[in-house]
Amino acid sequence: MEMDHLGIAVRKLDNALPIWERALATRGSPPEVVESQRVRVSFLSVGEPHMELLEPISPESPIARFLEKRGEGIHHVAMRVPDLAVKLEELRAAQVRLIDEVPRKGARGRLVAFAHPSSFGGVLTEFVQPTDGKE
Ligand code: ZN
Repeated sequence: MEMDHLGIAVRKLDNALPIWERALATRGSPPEVVESQRVRVSFLSVGEPHMELLEPISPESPIARFLEKRGEGIHHVAMRVPDLAVKLEELRAAQVRLIDEVPRKGARGRLVAFAHPSSFGGVLTEFVQPTDGKE
């Protein structure tokens, strides 16, 4: 298992993305809406892990609630696993509190599931299964 990305909550992706692109001298992926999370995201690559900038697209988005409470900043860490269904079984066996009991569709067409911060030292943790075994 490797770290896949760090998720960073931003208020306005169109403002934040150019700043990050300039600072890191790289290009973000074209912004993509993830309906299940009510967010718009872009990934920046400077090697691994990647950075995922997340902007809420509605007040009901978990990111909107995060921004309200904590402001902009690191929202979650994501670990890459070869088989998410197997990993969820392992996490359940390890008494990890899951937010997603079953994999669901995340950004970049990948399957994702979130575990509760109470099981990971206060850090919201996402598990990501790459599509077709590629990045
Ligand atoms: Zn993520």
